[in-house]
Amino acid sequence: MFTKILIANRGEITCRVIVTARRMGIKTVAVYSDADAGALHVQMADEAVRIGPPAVAESYLNGTAIIDAALKTGAQAIHPGYGFLSENPEFVEAVEKAGLVFIGPPPDAIRAMGLKDFAKARMESAGVPVVPGYHGPVQDADFLAEQARKIGYPVLIKARAGGGGKGMRLVEKPDDFASALESAQREGTKSFGDAAVLVEKYVASPRHIEMQIFADNAGHVVHLFERDCSLQRRHQKVIEEAPAPGMTQEMRHVMGEAAIEAARAIGYRGAGTIEFIADSSRGLRPDGFWFMEMNTRLQVEHPVSEAITGLDFVELQLRVAAGEPLPFTQQDLSITGHAFEARLYAEDPATGFLPATGKLDHLKFPEAAKFEQASLRIDSGVRAGDTITPWYDPMIAKVIVHGQDREDALHKLADALTSVEIAGTVTNLTFLAALSRHDGFRRGQIDTGLIGRDLTQLLEQPPAPAFGAVVAAMMFGEMFDSPTGRDPFDLTKGFRLWGPAELHVTLNSVNGREAVDLMINGAMVETADGATYRITKNGDDITIDENGYRQRLRAVRIDEAVHLFIDGHVFSWTRPDALTRIDETHVGSDTVAAPMPGLVAKLFVSRGQAVSKGDALLVLEAMKMEHALSAPRDGVVQEINVAAGQQVAHGDTLIALETDHG
Ligand code: ADP
Repeated sequence: MFTKILIANRGEITCRVIVTARRMGIKTVAVYSDADAGALHVQMADEAVRIGPPAVAESYLNGTAIIDAALKTGAQAIHPGYGFLSENPEFVEAVEKAGLVFIGPPPDAIRAMGLKDFAKARMESAGVPVVPGYHGPVQDADFLAEQARKIGYPVLIKARAGGGGKGMRLVEKPDDFASALESAQREGTKSFGDAAVLVEKYVASPRHIEMQIFADNAGHVVHLFERDCSLQRRHQKVIEEAPAPGMTQEMRHVMGEAAIEAARAIGYRGAGTIEFIADSSRGLRPDGFWFMEMNTRLQVEHPVSEAITGLDFVELQLRVAAGEPLPFTQQDLSITGHAFEARLYAEDPATGFLPATGKLDHLKFPEAAKFEQASLRIDSGVRAGDTITPWYDPMIAKVIVHGQDREDALHKLADALTSVEIAGTVTNLTFLAALSRHDGFRRGQIDTGLIGRDLTQLLEQPPAPAFGAVVAAMMFGEMFDSPTGRDPFDLTKGFRLWGPAELHVTLNSVNGREAVDLMINGAMVETADGATYRITKNGDDITIDENGYRQRLRAVRIDEAVHLFIDGHVFSWTRPDALTRIDETHVGSDTVAAPMPGLVAKLFVSRGQAVSKGDALLVLEAMKMEHALSAPRDGVVQEINVAAGQQVAHGDTLIALETDHG
């Protein structure tokens, strides 16, 4: 076994690999960009090496710097994590040429699955069912339209180099084919530098079911059962589970065999995933699934399979890479219980889930295992106080639950999600919690269209409770501070608690500006319109009693913002008259500057428009991703220095707000 490995990645997956390596007595080396110098993965590793500036092309995609770091630190092997260089055959070759071990498949196996069209042709000849369609070399528009007619509408056009749902177009009828083809080709060229497409049958009520496989050097291949990843938003996975609801023994067997066959056909080694699409319109059937693609790496969602098999996939990866045989046969493997994973992201559901940035002023998870199996496991590469930057994937955490059965696990998921507290950046938490309570999902009636169909309902935000502003006002007024110390100043401050006091505060929230006028007498609080509450606070826990109806919630004050956490929702109030805090990274209080070079894709505001803190002002397209830049504070747009379609440089001032803070 290796004594030291380097992890060529960042964030939660790096931390996750470190935890297993440490348990196995293997030392770890992290790499980091300038943006990550203080990141958790750097702190957790035994050693860390700076590999470059924040831009991924100069750091986490800089294979040479990474291999140098491994050689310099005496690491014997490189774990690529997922994303970045994990599926780059040239990198694997360079690693091997440097005399190091790549913890993953051989370069030719990655190549064989790299392009969707070649992969499909290869799988077809290996006898693996493939979605009916055309995946040949001819790219003439009329020819492809003719293929689409033969396949039968609706069809799906896919960029052959595509990934992450990019370059994919659903075409319902022949009239729309030409323009959809053009736009898929354009996106393919723009995102992957490859315009070639394939055309395939669009599967009705599609479910995404994938098989986890493992292969060792001796040619022994097993499957570790399936995961269902049908809960997707624009072809991106949101919640995954294992096993798949409604899966029969017979279908699992046929699908498992097909996955093993696929891995064998390309001489695979290590952990891999074969993604299938299944037609769920008549229930899951052994003749109703087809190969989509293979991911030649460890997947983001691997923890759900770890939960139901009781295995540590990173340990298996390390053992296989070190030349050990798989320690089990197919017959030894079985499924225990049911598991879910929800992907918690800094993203803004209100702007179509654009990635968001910001400092995690407050981040509190329910008690859970970290990077290790448990009924509740939370894998997160960030801590409270860390900043989600526009440079990388804005994932905050993976919330993973394991229950006796599906119902039990889903309860655990809903529970866990409603106990997460995050303030400082917008997230998809409310959306995930709503999804975990969705009726159809509860019943296991899922397909890839579920989220799209019910999006409005899933994005519903409950109104802030009436007592919210009262609690916020009292926190700003420091009305809960009791005279604990012997310091006489403490006593004077706390004195107000014991006699009646008046409190007048102006607050801002999503509902706009409101004046809060309170009469406070001990724990009793009366509002101007006559509502009375008994409010007590213990640490961050608040209890509110309104005429005998008692509610508990949690609340924190961070500088000039108070955040209330109720049932997985966060409600925030700020004081408009207080000085606006200058945001750490790139957003001044009066101006919004470009955090990186990019293209202004959309402009949401015009001159003279009033905006609230956090409103999306524009969308910057940079590094193949879209970033929403939002208002640093409440105010009025005074200046717009850019137009949609314009290229901007790092640091350019894009929008200025009126400087009058009034
Ligand atoms: P990408 O590599 O961009 O992620 P995939 O080929 O893996 O693209 O497909 C992504 C998602 O698109 C699948 O999970 C599924 O939801 C949907 N999809 C793909 N192929 C089809 C198809 N033939 N019919 C219906 N939906 C499909």
